[in-house]
Amino acid sequence: MGYRLHHYNHILPIYYHPFPRLFSFRFNFRVWCCSQSGKNQAQMEQVVVNGSESHLVVVDNPNLLQKKMSAIRLAGPAKLQVIADFDATLTKYWIDGCRGQSSHNLLQQEDPEYNVKRQKLYDYYHPLEFDPAIPLDKKAKLMVEWWEKTHALLIEGGLTYNAIQNSVAKATIAFRDGVTELFELLEEKGVPVLIFSAGLADIIEEVLKQKVHRSFKNVRIVSNKMVFDENGRLQSFKGKTIHVLNKNEHALDMAAPLHDHCDDLNGLGDEKSSLKKRTNVLLLGDHIGDLGMSDGLDYETRISVGFLNDKVENSLESYQKAFDILYLNDSSMHGVVKLASHLCSMESN
Ligand SMILES: [Mg+2]
Repeated sequence: MGYRLHHYNHILPIYYHPFPRLFSFRFNFRVWCCSQSGKNQAQMEQVVVNGSESHLVVVDNPNLLQKKMSAIRLAGPAKLQVIADFDATLTKYWIDGCRGQSSHNLLQQEDPEYNVKRQKLYDYYHPLEFDPAIPLDKKAKLMVEWWEKTHALLIEGGLTYNAIQNSVAKATIAFRDGVTELFELLEEKGVPVLIFSAGLADIIEEVLKQKVHRSFKNVRIVSNKMVFDENGRLQSFKGKTIHVLNKNEHALDMAAPLHDHCDDLNGLGDEKSSLKKRTNVLLLGDHIGDLGMSDGLDYETRISVGFLNDKVENSLESYQKAFDILYLNDSSMHGVVKLASHLCSMESN
């Protein structure tokens, strides 16, 4: 399951501190440099954190990252927002050797017949989601079809909020170590966190409740939001359907209000316009497609952090090119906490 360094036996090891201000007081780094086959002189550097955690961090372009970090830090926390995917980004990929569940597949309806029906939809549509032969516009239609059929089954099956609570309580799902610290830090600095998910907002909220045991003023969930009737049964969904292919800041306009009763809680004023003014972005995702979450936002500087949780050998090259910082092997969130702390460390006057 783990990725091993001997896959890089062609790379010369040297010792180097690429971000001394940020990391050197806590971690030691080793960087592997290689000139790729002599022809392409682009330098690839891999930063390996050797500390109490043995997580691997890959930074494809340390100079660019350094520039982005300086720009964001200089602009200060008032200009920053964090956009995060939920499943396998904020949550762990592996839990005690088992694959962690997603916010969607942890849900168990009272009537098990409906779980079977939803699974059948998954079996049919999931391969289509990853079929490279299907054009994007056609695929988007298929995804809407899948999501709407699934939502219809949840309504028809009479899903209750109680079932959501029970499903989350029994689920194999956990946040990465450091997620709570990250949210706390960003709350303290007044930096909003948008969790974008094509899953179900009510489930994500329940996972936060049960696993973190507190709410955060700065955390907003942009996802499919349910409406329950007076008996606690699912009646409908609010707003437009958010699926895997339209999960971006346009979704802010499509989705239901982030919270119905949050105006007095958030201290962020008019949230949407306030978010548009925050033109620096720290983006967290576990799929290259997650980079699209900042589409619709006219950002100035974006640092993207990727989590490559599994099958590292197959995807390393594309992921390290796509993300500014790439964590391998289902890493913790501690490196991101340090990064965010650094980015927010220069208070504006
Ligand atoms: Mg994900």
